[in-house]
Amino acid sequence: MANLIEDIGIIGASAAASSETFRVSKDADTGKTRKLYIESYGCQMNYADSEIVASILKKEGYDTTSDLRQADVIFLNTCSIRDKAEQTVRNRLTHFTAMKRNNPGLLIGVLGCMAERLKSKLVEEEKIVDLVAGPDAYRDLPRLIAQVDDGGKAVNTFLSREETYADISPVRLNSNGITAFISIMRGCDNMCTFCVVPFTRGRERSRDPKTVVAEATDLFNRGYREVTLLGQNVDSYKWSESENNKARLEKKGVDKLVNFAGLLEMVAQIHPDLRIRFSTSHPKDITDDVLHTMAKHENICKYIHLPFQSGSTRILGMMNRGYTREWYLQKISRIKDILGDDCGISSDMISGFCSETEADHAETLSLMDTVKFDYAYMFCYSERPGTLAEKKFADDVPPEVKKRRLAEVIERQNAHSLLRNKADIGRVFKVLVEGRSKKSEAYLQGRNTANKVVVFPKEGYGKGQYVQVRIEDCTGGTLIGKVAE
Ligand code: SAM
Ligand code: SF4
Repeated sequence: MANLIEDIGIIGASAAASSETFRVSKDADTGKTRKLYIESYGCQMNYADSEIVASILKKEGYDTTSDLRQADVIFLNTCSIRDKAEQTVRNRLTHFTAMKRNNPGLLIGVLGCMAERLKSKLVEEEKIVDLVAGPDAYRDLPRLIAQVDDGGKAVNTFLSREETYADISPVRLNSNGITAFISIMRGCDNMCTFCVVPFTRGRERSRDPKTVVAEATDLFNRGYREVTLLGQNVDSYKWSESENNKARLEKKGVDKLVNFAGLLEMVAQIHPDLRIRFSTSHPKDITDDVLHTMAKHENICKYIHLPFQSGSTRILGMMNRGYTREWYLQKISRIKDILGDDCGISSDMISGFCSETEADHAETLSLMDTVKFDYAYMFCYSERPGTLAEKKFADDVPPEVKKRRLAEVIERQNAHSLLRNKADIGRVFKVLVEGRSKKSEAYLQGRNTANKVVVFPKEGYGKGQYVQVRIEDCTGGTLIGKVAE
């Protein structure tokens, strides 16, 4: 059983917290002359951005490749969220130096959050970098590449107040053909003190809902059965015909607008067999309207990723999260009132934020005990240059204390994940099959509405089908069952 679980690529909570993994573009040979290789780091939004980049360059005569050696252009789509993510990218760049030496015509570019954060410094420090493009500069990539082809270096890190790439149909790079991500907004206006995102990805703007519905409809018609709507704070999605920038919308007092509940409603109506998920929700912004819309539509998955970051109201205040411990717990009660105890809830948390005491840490553990999350992404606090926390507070929790507290948090979460999964034994779930197990042809893998991974013997079923599965066993990360009669 252990092999089976490893095989389908489920990583435990501790692995998720410690690894800085990346995704590589897949091979697409449509007869184009040049090859683009993209390595993407960080969050789902970054992976979705790489698909926009691939789409823009496809029109310029590039096919994607998963083989570095075939590439004419190598892009690293980077993440700045923690120092470790940046270090991984720097190590990767060192690795590319030899390739560039043997192939001087090879173009190496840095995209995404690190590009925005480090700008031309990257070109100067990492001598092999030819091109730097921030998250809002991807339409400019053809011009930037031409500039490098002409013998120069190219940098564009301009942050837009309107860009959403609404009209660009992404090339699916790591797709299983069943589930896909759709960006519905960009940027973040929240200014959590620990976070670099508002600086690297700019102001919050929402994408035209008609283009979101069109993209989801097209995916459904091509056989996809699940879309995840993506944004740093989906609950603050706001769009009107005249304005898509949240700050300007609020300033102008526009009240005829589409909010997140409205967008969910529109996407849910595309087809009952198209499942909808979304991420990330913010405790201060998720509304009863959203929860009622979820309850109304069977095809909106009963799962919410609701980061809490810390169980201590004092620390939450210093983080500028805009809610208290009590407010967070009340939101959890609201979710359970409207959607029931079966609704999957996952979270993010940070150990060792500035001035965190043992008492604050104990409050984090006790909040976890109260909620019993199904899953969590857990991190040590990593001070980021330029953030409000870096300017205002001392990063004064010693690394070994951060690590010990994180280990305690992970241990607690592992126990809760197992407990929550054990409660599902004997129950029957509707599972959307995403594919087969890599090692065992005889097993399929999918997820239930609460986002739990379910593995079961194939019995003639296949990818893209909905199957009723009775759960017979579990680990902390997986439910294991058989097709229910
Ligand atoms: N917008 C989402 C939200 O507010 O919940 C999350 C965005 S961030 C990409 C994902 C997670 O990274 C955060 O929820 C937080 O737990 C973690 N994170 C962000 N900045 C961090 C930092 N400086 N050190 C450690 N973890 C951090
Ligand atoms: Fe960062 Fe806070 Fe915005 Fe999330 S809500 S992206 S943590 S600033």
